[in-house]
Amino acid sequence: MIDRLIKVLLVEDDEDDYVLIRDLLNEVREQQFQLNWVTTFEDARQTIQQQQHDIYLVDYRLGEHDGLELLQSIDQNTSPVIILSGQGDRELDITALRSGAADYLDKTDLHSSLLEHYIRASIERNQALRALQESEQKYRQLFERETQLRQELSRSNTELQDFAYIASHDLQEPLRAISGYTKLLQSEYASQLDSTAHEYMNFAIEGTRRMRGLIEDLLTYSRVSTSERTFSMVDCDRLIEEVISNLQIPIEESQAKIIYRGLPNLMADRTQLVQLFQNLLSNALKFRCQDIPPQILIQAEPTAEESWLFRVTDNGIGIKTEYYDRIFKIFKRLHTHQEYAGTGVGLALCRKIVERHGGKIWVESKLEKGSTFCFTIDRSPSSKL
Ligand code: ADP
Repeated sequence: MIDRLIKVLLVEDDEDDYVLIRDLLNEVREQQFQLNWVTTFEDARQTIQQQQHDIYLVDYRLGEHDGLELLQSIDQNTSPVIILSGQGDRELDITALRSGAADYLDKTDLHSSLLEHYIRASIERNQALRALQESEQKYRQLFERETQLRQELSRSNTELQDFAYIASHDLQEPLRAISGYTKLLQSEYASQLDSTAHEYMNFAIEGTRRMRGLIEDLLTYSRVSTSERTFSMVDCDRLIEEVISNLQIPIEESQAKIIYRGLPNLMADRTQLVQLFQNLLSNALKFRCQDIPPQILIQAEPTAEESWLFRVTDNGIGIKTEYYDRIFKIFKRLHTHQEYAGTGVGLALCRKIVERHGGKIWVESKLEKGSTFCFTIDRSPSSKL
């Protein structure tokens, strides 16, 4: 809405036409206009550059120049330009609009309300266009910023992964030396050490053992992203057999019962799927209730979203609701290693593997009753990753 004085610049070399326009604008009761008048192409250019008007009414004929030339010589982001001409000329009308004029008007056919309407409509259209251009520009800037942030994130993720890999790889060597010499010290100088020294030595050996576990798990974790994607058809029933045989000792010790049947064949990275199930099953065995043999049920069903939903249910100690997210973060554990051995990498690794297969992982649990780890695996992973 325009409810203020409208400043109009008329570019017109004919005084009679200036008088005509001035009188027409003066006749308008509802709107006040301030009319300035220039007669030459050069004066017009200079005045327009100052950007002090809401609209320019430009006569088509301007001595040796014309209104369209003026239109082309000025910044397109200025106020709107209406081209005026002495006679109706459809060709000129089309050319003027195509050259960026807000409108084209025939001076011989003008009356005050028509002129007022065209001026107002041109200004409002121009304002709307500017607002649109501004929001488009803001959107583009946001989009560019987002793309830039994504690239930075992906680069720093890669750097972090490389760092984790290199650091854990390089840490192995000095750790081997510490562990080897501590053991040598313990075996070859046993008679010269008192019981406190032996106790300290055992702490050191235990420390290096735990550190080796952490480094190995960290390496496994960073390899999930750095290794090449080698997907093949995997028979999940056979894969579970293999996992069970890997976990034979804790299964026998705990007298665990593992139930699985009719699991699907699917496209996956077989090694990673073994790691995934092995982590979930060994957790189910580890976090069991005292005096109750573990019962683990593995099920799978197709979902409407073109994926497989797996459920690994145990009858173990369960997890409090507030820890449902936390346990999937690397190094986050709910127990000390005196209570339960572990590094806190297992579930983070599971999440990474599942995400690499286009899926999600989560837990549903009841304290002291058991937990169900659910995850999805994309049925056509290659199309999405
Ligand atoms: P870790 O087993 O080395 O502690 P994980 O990343 O595998 O590390 O698991 C993180 C934590 O989640 C565990 O320390 C444990 O507190 C909890 N958790 C995982 N699996 C189970 C489970 N089946 N039942 C109860 N708690 C579990």
